[in-house]
Amino acid sequence: MRRHRNVKIVATLGPASSDYDMIRALHDAGADVFRLNMSHGTHDELRERHRIIRQIEEDTGGSICILADLQGPKLRVGVFANEEGEMLEEGAAFRMDLDEAPGDKTRVNLPHPEIFEALEPGASLLVNDGKIRLKVEDCSKTHANCTVIAGGVISNRKGVNVPDVVLPLAALSDKDRKDLEFACELGVDWLALSFVQRADDVLEASDLANGRAAILSKIEKPAAVHNFDEILEVSDGIMVARGDLGVELPVQNVPPIQKRLVRKCRRAAKPVIVATQMMESMIESPVPTRAEVSDVATAIYEGADAVMLSAESAAGAYPVEAVTTMNNVAIEVEQDPTYTQIIEASREAKGRSVADGIVSAAREIAETTNIKAICCFSQSGTTAMLTARERPRVPIIVMTSKARTARRLTLAWGCNCVMTDQLERFKQAVVNSARVATRQGYATKEDLIVVTAGVPFNVPGSTNILRVAPCDERLIFNTDPE
Ligand code: PGA
Ligand code: MN
Repeated sequence: MRRHRNVKIVATLGPASSDYDMIRALHDAGADVFRLNMSHGTHDELRERHRIIRQIEEDTGGSICILADLQGPKLRVGVFANEEGEMLEEGAAFRMDLDEAPGDKTRVNLPHPEIFEALEPGASLLVNDGKIRLKVEDCSKTHANCTVIAGGVISNRKGVNVPDVVLPLAALSDKDRKDLEFACELGVDWLALSFVQRADDVLEASDLANGRAAILSKIEKPAAVHNFDEILEVSDGIMVARGDLGVELPVQNVPPIQKRLVRKCRRAAKPVIVATQMMESMIESPVPTRAEVSDVATAIYEGADAVMLSAESAAGAYPVEAVTTMNNVAIEVEQDPTYTQIIEASREAKGRSVADGIVSAAREIAETTNIKAICCFSQSGTTAMLTARERPRVPIIVMTSKARTARRLTLAWGCNCVMTDQLERFKQAVVNSARVATRQGYATKEDLIVVTAGVPFNVPGSTNILRVAPCDERLIFNTDPE
């Protein structure tokens, strides 16, 4: 199905969106990518959602992208003698230690020796999405004595964030390894890694995935922001995971980081998702706040590849409305001349490869003449990502014989992916492009398109042809070289 926008929409699936009819409705409303959150749901439930998505893909004839999000090393406190938990008052002393005895008003178990290994006096421990803030006064390998800076109720197994230190934690827990193998066997397109801290975390996961899924690093820790360049280098894509990021860092730091990361990802020609709380109020309300609409719009103006819904589509009362709203915002922003200005002003000097030259020439020709689409033959997906980085004003049609490439690229800005047979001759590529462009309403028979490809076909990274072609097949046969 043709979308009338370039930015993509990621919808997280959950209890509110688990059957065929609902997932189909989300797709029809504009969801291009479905996120399976491995922190929730059994393998059987995830397998069933995966099956339904592939069924919808077959029924609609397009490519749908599936992203499995691994839970990562989530830290939690132990339990309290009082099941209700305890109220921690500001200024009080509170201790975390390795003692498994139930907690009280003065202490609780924190069953993670690696945290105590890394803690230093002055560091912060955040509990329950950052609502409770503790400052470490003194610590050892088995305990930390803290002062309560911001109080609140602490109860059984609440999550803990330790923003100030790089933890010697494996990025992948045993559960993550099992989930990763399960997701790869299912055939998901992307794996998202939570709480990445350094490039090695990414390399470990990509070794395990071994090409079966592309790797997307979630940036949600200060260490990841600090080590971003090397993380980007070894990742296939990035998520600005603003939920945990806004707990681990002061919230006002999140917008500038978002802007910087989005820009760096475009420069690297790797897709970036802006995520979390985009339409948060739509969990309970059929209309968003004006501020939320503005937040989604801002991410699009910044040039993000995709915007994401979390609980809004997974557990909210208005999943379809949330997708529809995002879709409407995206269409409106992309029609705004200011959007085009911003996006074009942030295009950077092109690289020096032949492919860089061809994608930039394709954009210039398409924009300066009356050409209706750029058809890009891409097997590995690299040329398609380079074309998308140009952010051309005309639509990009990515033609590939690899379902895996089509699905992965469905996450990327502007990539309208269409499956094509394995080709031998360039003339066939031109004919196929013209057919797709006219059948899917990008062009009429009277129009021209640009076709880029690498010949011979199936040699990765060999983009070397740019052809301006008529959409009328008779003209192609009459005029084209082999
Ligand atoms: P999560 O990641 O929803 O898995 O926590 C996103 C975020 O932290 O923003
Ligand atoms: Mn997170």
